[in-house]
Amino acid sequence: MSNKPIPYKIYLEEDEMPKAWYNVRADMKNKPAPLIDPATMEPITLEALSKVFCEELAKQELDDTTPYIPIPQEILDFYKMYRPAPLVRAYCLEKKLGTPAKIYYKFEGNNTSGSHKLNSAIAQAYYAKQQGLKGVTTETGAGQWGTALSMACAYLDLDCKVYMVKCSYEQKPFRREVMRTYGANVTPSPSMETEVGRRINAEFPGTTGSLGCAISEAVEAASNDPGYRYVLGSVMNQVLLHQSIIGLETKAALDKYDIKADIIIGCAGGGSNLGGLVSPFAGEMLRGEANYKLIAVEPASCPSLTRGSYVYDYCDTGKICPLQKMYTLGSGFIPASSHAGGLRYHGMSSVVSQLYHDGLMEARTVEQTSVFAAAQEFAKVEGILPAPESSHAIRVAIDEALKCKETGEEKTIVFGLTGTGYFDMYAYQRFNDGQMGDYIPSDEEIATSLAKTPKF
Ligand SMILES: *Cc1c(COP(=O)(O)O)cnc(C)c1O
Repeated sequence: MSNKPIPYKIYLEEDEMPKAWYNVRADMKNKPAPLIDPATMEPITLEALSKVFCEELAKQELDDTTPYIPIPQEILDFYKMYRPAPLVRAYCLEKKLGTPAKIYYKFEGNNTSGSHKLNSAIAQAYYAKQQGLKGVTTETGAGQWGTALSMACAYLDLDCKVYMVKCSYEQKPFRREVMRTYGANVTPSPSMETEVGRRINAEFPGTTGSLGCAISEAVEAASNDPGYRYVLGSVMNQVLLHQSIIGLETKAALDKYDIKADIIIGCAGGGSNLGGLVSPFAGEMLRGEANYKLIAVEPASCPSLTRGSYVYDYCDTGKICPLQKMYTLGSGFIPASSHAGGLRYHGMSSVVSQLYHDGLMEARTVEQTSVFAAAQEFAKVEGILPAPESSHAIRVAIDEALKCKETGEEKTIVFGLTGTGYFDMYAYQRFNDGQMGDYIPSDEEIATSLAKTPKF
């Protein structure tokens, strides 16, 4: 170890910043299984995929061999607005816990969208613009992805149409207004603008919508206009690739001060922040250069890695995107309403799934109330009010640090703090009022949902 004092926050200098994304698939001996075209049920071709995504993104999606993909200058320039993200030593948390462990967190909440999602939103918007498209459509549940995409589109002068699940549209007016301030067109879903929206409204009058329905509307809107594409904020290989910026910066910051991480922890919804954070470290493991304990943390209410099956499934309820082989609870699985909207996804990115399947990563589930207890503990000593999603990683980081307290080991723990929770005060209110519950799906519930995964 070097004797340089380690700053409270490690920031990279401009010339230390990553200039290329890292594609961990290039170093994987067991590649993720090929994507399947839902139209033919055969491995998807670039041509077919380019109808769903912009061509450059479709190429990235299928590229299993190129380790480094240069980040276009315009995206690097955009990143300068909120990157580098600091790698922070949680001295106060360590002291409070009385642990000999050293705890670091990579903070991705330093932008208006309040999460890491902007890292991929800008890339997806950039390639859409390059291709001469007019705009993009998407869905948003809790609102983080819609907000990030709105910001990226505003920067590039691209049209952004967001279908927001109606109950969120009504319950989260602030996120909605952030999106509108950035010029996005936000429509409560189900709407009367699309065929699927009109059908659902007729069938279920007064419904407050669902993510699946919002996805179907966004996909329909994009497919009706050749100037538009539908974009996704997680799960896909391309999103993990863009999110590798998190791990690359983290690794560069650690290397700068000769710090060797022992444990790396991320919360897992669709797997994009976790996959991005661990990619460069998993790459070292795959090349036999180093070893780390990588931990995925998922909510007990939506346990795809820990209780799902490793099979082909649909990524979207609309069944438009290619199928992926992944740990899944079944695309029809409706997780109990929880306060970590960003983790309520039925499946896990195929890269993360394969790494987990091959034993390079562990997975844990945590219950909501213990997650909020960790969030509160963290907020009190580290100053940042964390997003409920991010707090899943905090929970396990604290648990690991407390284990070190028992054993006296001075392990170095790094976790991803994906965002801030200022728009989640209703959730904190439930917690503060002692009204928050924990929901764990039954085996039967999961089996019923898994029975509906496609067989071929
Ligand atoms: C969306 C979101 C997540 C989960 O998404 P992943 O694709 O699994 O990373 C985690 N944290 C925050 C703050 C989010 O907005």
